[in-house]
Amino acid sequence: MGEGFTTVYGRNLIAELPRFVNRPYLVVTMADLWPRFEPSFDDGLAAVHLVQTLEVSELEVAVDALPAAGSVIGLGGGQAIDVAKFIAWRRRLPLFQVPTAMTVNAPFGHRSGLRRDGIVRYLSYAVPEAVYVDFDVIMGAPPGLNRAGVGDILCYHTAHLDWRLARDRGMTEPQWPYDEGLVAQARDRLDAVMGALDEIHDVTERGIRTLMEAHRWGGTTYHDSGWNPRHIEGVEHFYFYALEKRTGRHFIHGQPVGLGIVVGSVLHGSGAEEMTTALHRAGVDIRPEAMGVTWQDAEAAMRYLATFVREAGLWSSIADVRAVDDDVVARVRELVVGSYGPWEANG
Ligand SMILES: [Zn+2]
Repeated sequence: MGEGFTTVYGRNLIAELPRFVNRPYLVVTMADLWPRFEPSFDDGLAAVHLVQTLEVSELEVAVDALPAAGSVIGLGGGQAIDVAKFIAWRRRLPLFQVPTAMTVNAPFGHRSGLRRDGIVRYLSYAVPEAVYVDFDVIMGAPPGLNRAGVGDILCYHTAHLDWRLARDRGMTEPQWPYDEGLVAQARDRLDAVMGALDEIHDVTERGIRTLMEAHRWGGTTYHDSGWNPRHIEGVEHFYFYALEKRTGRHFIHGQPVGLGIVVGSVLHGSGAEEMTTALHRAGVDIRPEAMGVTWQDAEAAMRYLATFVREAGLWSSIADVRAVDDDVVARVRELVVGSYGPWEANG
């Protein structure tokens, strides 16, 4: 099994890029990040693309308008990284990725999470020359963005419960029979992150290495296992999609996924307290108010979950087996408020 993309940890890594990337180069980043990083680049800069949309039809137009270049540098969180992949793929150019926060595993995955008519589509295919993880850059990101990154690793807990449930009930999809080896590999990364929650909370070098190495594995295993998501995603992501659909809001991925981990663990009756405590310890605020929605929204999404997964045609999970009733809703709220306290106290 692959260990993921070539990844380099260090410092002053952005300033070094102009000395070795193929010139002239395109930089893909966000408007709010560019002023901070612009001084690191030189006259080899062909153009900067500031991401404003993830719509493929609009990106196609933007790519056609960009000047000729020798390479692409992705610099940012998930969106800039995904658009950099797309441009590198369309132009067939070498790609260098520099994540500025630990929020998602996008720098370590082959495909870009873009939108077609507003619906998420995983398109394109790019393997970067290297992913540069600069400790000072990551440490300079808002702490909440970094800490939210644990959501995409702790979710292996509910993903595995779903896959085992599917195996036990004969509900596995034909292309994804239960694979204990894949589950064990994911479990190793989950355990590593569980063992470094305080370091991740504090965004120390060890915390950065631990979470980014977990993302590095998580980003490529989908491809390396034959496009199998079963060991890395399940009902907790379905809950996030349901909440997104109901509220029409955009979220910091790890927050609604984190709440989804609690919902899924309660439905499975396994590890709900442990997971709530872990998310709290890492500093991911999973209270609905912290993500700009209400408990009413969060509860409505829980009750909508079973219908949503059928409509969306998602793979089998606990959502198909156990209905969300008043007890489930009350238990989730009790766990979250029990760990984090009521919102009024902090808000
Ligand atoms: Zn995710």
